[in-house]
Amino acid sequence: MPRSIANAKEIQAKSRRHTVRQIGPNWYKVKSGETRRVYDVVLAVNGGTCTCDWGRQRPDEDHRSACSHVVAALNYRAAKKGRRISAWDSEEAAQRQHRPMLKIGDGLILTSRSG
Ligand SMILES: [Zn+2]
Repeated sequence: MPRSIANAKEIQAKSRRHTVRQIGPNWYKVKSGETRRVYDVVLAVNGGTCTCDWGRQRPDEDHRSACSHVVAALNYRAAKKGRRISAWDSEEAAQRQHRPMLKIGDGLILTSRSG
């Protein structure tokens, strides 16, 4: 099922307002900048899972959640390598960046650049 809520830039903006704390190698606590609620995010190579309402409702065949919490954790992980990520909901727009691309589910595509 394609993502039907919000758009990539909105998710990206929201993700920047969250606070991320790393708990384990792939485990993060992400505190919402809006509600102050804390969610557990577990990252894999191709995205991550989250305990928020959206993340809990992912289909059986793909548990990955492209919510702003997962994007925040991915950005945190990227920042440790000196990189920054941007979110796109169209493959054409993502490809135009000519950067490494990562499809994290729900139709969301991330690109990363240094700096
Ligand atoms: Zn979430």
